[in-house]
Amino acid sequence: MDSRNPEEIPAETCEELIARRLRLGSLVLAATVALSAVLDLAIRPGGFLPVAWIYGADFALVFLVQLASRHPQTRAHIIPVAVLAVILWNALFCSYAALSPREIPVPIAPSIVIVTAAALLFPWGLRLQSIVAGACVLTCAGTLVLAGRYADLDALHALASLLGAAVVSCVGAYLVDRRAHLVDRQTAGLRERNRLMREAAVRKDEFLASVSHELRTPVNVVLGYVDLLLDHSFGPLEPAQRDVLHRIARNAANLSNLINDLIDLSRIDAGRLKVEIGAVELQPLFADLSGVMEVLLSGHDVKFTSKIVPRCARVSADPERLKQIVSNLLVNAVKFTERGSITLSAEPRPDGSVALVVADTGIGIPSTAQRAIFEPFRRVHDPSLRVPGAGIGLSISSRLAHLMGGSLTVESEPGLGSRFTLVIPAVPEPPRAPGAAPDALRKVS
Ligand code: ADP
Repeated sequence: MDSRNPEEIPAETCEELIARRLRLGSLVLAATVALSAVLDLAIRPGGFLPVAWIYGADFALVFLVQLASRHPQTRAHIIPVAVLAVILWNALFCSYAALSPREIPVPIAPSIVIVTAAALLFPWGLRLQSIVAGACVLTCAGTLVLAGRYADLDALHALASLLGAAVVSCVGAYLVDRRAHLVDRQTAGLRERNRLMREAAVRKDEFLASVSHELRTPVNVVLGYVDLLLDHSFGPLEPAQRDVLHRIARNAANLSNLINDLIDLSRIDAGRLKVEIGAVELQPLFADLSGVMEVLLSGHDVKFTSKIVPRCARVSADPERLKQIVSNLLVNAVKFTERGSITLSAEPRPDGSVALVVADTGIGIPSTAQRAIFEPFRRVHDPSLRVPGAGIGLSISSRLAHLMGGSLTVESEPGLGSRFTLVIPAVPEPPRAPGAAPDALRKVS
């Protein structure tokens, strides 16, 4: 699939389109002319020779058109070339009609086909179509007059049909022109709207980024003072005062996390967030996260386990960002699981990467919402559940996973639980010493 912005994809120009159709059309015409030459050879009462030059000229014209439509220099002037080719072809067919023996009704059908096909094939608008159609009618009338067939009823009838076809083709070209103008106007309007929306999105991102930066400093100051108070820097505290300060610290920390998430999101959107990839040992990371889970799950009816298959003990990632993603998945699992279990595991994948899986037995996510949860500010559960969060953790996690060369996906069944899989490139293990213990599941906690 072409991932470029549709406005950047070069569309086929009018000249290219005409050159392509001219090439194809002239081949079709050559085949028709060849067929009619065979018929003429077989049945023409006056013999084939008087009209042989017309066939010769026809094929020569096909050859020239093929050359002109391929040659870069003539292609630049393809519209006059096409106009000229159509008029010349028509002149050849008119000569043929004028030279036909009197017992053959005037064969003007090819001229009608040429005039109509030109209008259908070449999007050159009303002006050029009028020139082509007018020239075809005049050439036809002229050749019939020169051949002395002006009083011939068949000739007049044929000429009237050609005139009709010419008028219809011009009306068609006019209608197509009008529609094209309408589409052009609508496209220009849509482009302008698109530009304004993009500008608004950039302004919104800048606003979000600057507000987040402004908020971060005072929140950090609050956290700093609370720490000083809790450290007794301003004198001893009553238990009730400590309790209040702990609450302030917890809420300020939540606010600080949210602000950091917003800053991350705006940096990722602006392409300014850099990740520093290195080899990350999974065991210390899992041990660290298990400690956090112990605190988060205390008093909950939920069991936490984690396991690492030794063959995938190291991954290639940014250590801080990897921890941020897995922590976010675990915190979500805690928020949305009332009872049962939460597991964190690392498994090797056949393509050499590692899958870090966070699975829970919580409320699950409806299949219709499983894409939406990776978009910023999307929360899919009923607000009455009163689960805290702003709906940006997963969108940041999924973008960070991509920045680290991996991916984040979800499988979930409402009522049964969810399974988030973070795929990350592995760091190849050094070859095992002879006699070393075989791979086994190592328990981290
Ligand atoms: P937050 O958790 O802050 O709302 P996230 O981006 O991390 O934001 O998650 C978006 C939404 O995805 C959540 O609001 C929730 O509806 C859904 N979700 C995420 N993880 C889980 C999970 N483990 N179980 C059920 N729903 C989940």
